[in-house]
Amino acid sequence: MAEKRDYYEVLGVAKDASEDDIKKAYRKLAIKYHPDRNPGDKTAEEKFKEAAEAYEVLHDAQKRQQYDQFGFNGPQGSGFGGFGGGAGMNMDDIFSMFGDIFGGHGGGFGGFGFGGGGGDQQRVYRGSDLRLKVKLSLQDVASGVTKKFKVRKDVACSHCHGSGAEGGAAPETCPTCHGTGIVSRTVRSMFGMMTTQAECPTCHGEGTVIKNKCKECSGTGTVKGEEVVEINIPAGVEEGMVLNVHGKGNAGAHNGINGDIQVLVEEEKNDTFIRDKQDVLYNLLLDFPTAALGGEVDVPTIDGRKIKLKVDPGTQPGKSVRLRGKGLPAVKGYGSGMGDLIVSMSVYVPKTLSRDERKAIEKLRESENFQGDKTTRQSIFDKLRSHFN
Ligand SMILES: [Zn+2]
Ligand SMILES: [Zn+2]
Repeated sequence: MAEKRDYYEVLGVAKDASEDDIKKAYRKLAIKYHPDRNPGDKTAEEKFKEAAEAYEVLHDAQKRQQYDQFGFNGPQGSGFGGFGGGAGMNMDDIFSMFGDIFGGHGGGFGGFGFGGGGGDQQRVYRGSDLRLKVKLSLQDVASGVTKKFKVRKDVACSHCHGSGAEGGAAPETCPTCHGTGIVSRTVRSMFGMMTTQAECPTCHGEGTVIKNKCKECSGTGTVKGEEVVEINIPAGVEEGMVLNVHGKGNAGAHNGINGDIQVLVEEEKNDTFIRDKQDVLYNLLLDFPTAALGGEVDVPTIDGRKIKLKVDPGTQPGKSVRLRGKGLPAVKGYGSGMGDLIVSMSVYVPKTLSRDERKAIEKLRESENFQGDKTTRQSIFDKLRSHFN
């Protein structure tokens, strides 16, 4: 096995190099030898690992001091845990460390920019989501509607412009983790000394701390506030649907990203219509003479208008007519076309009768035509059966 190179030599920095110089040197090497840039190149991979190992020790003040004093073996010959020739450290560990220095928290290599060289990115906070309920009439559902809500939520603190620092002072590099947002601890385990990494307890992974906290927001950068939010509700929505309104939720701490508002749709009960997905049912109560003689009646539509419907002579109770396209639209992007208005007919029977009416109807009863035949009874029965199936 080749002789282990001195960590300072690996990074190409002086023994008294500053934290910043070590970080910069590591970044340069990490970019140069990154496996994505050198596919299949074993030498590059080794150099990448070697640099990661050197950085892991030298960027940690305590470990650096131990290394300076005891060399690779550390105090009591315990070594630096998993750093026995790189065998104890897998690529994922290196990547997680690597991701951290480039601000790619949990994002794999998504936020990794070669050659860009931009400074250390800080952790970005996302505000939480808010939930609202909206009650809609069938008319709202038919046309779509814009609703205004007065929302109580976290908003950016105007005193510090969301930074959390009094007087607009820039946040300072965290003294605990020196800006990386992570701390490493060497712990004794059944496998020997192991190095574990955890979110920095001082800055909670942010890498920066605010010395002089804003007195309005206590350093969070957000305060409770109110905002009137306009929410466009598309036509065709249904009870139980949840609409996501991007970026209208709570503001993120320290000028972070806003959360969303989730809007739960509820439908108002309607006395005239029954909704069946995109179709709308209407029960038309015909008077007996119109059912028998035929005629023209008014049928209400969802948009509040009326349409004329022709009733055939001899119309039977339970008959239904489908008025195409008079129902509800599909939610845009989730379907197409319009539903129908289904008019289901029943016949009104008066509850009380005057003397003359009674006489007239008694006379009708004698007529054989009014006694109902077997086929009519059967057809009503069939209709009922099909309704329940
Ligand atoms: Zn503030
Ligand atoms: Zn920290």
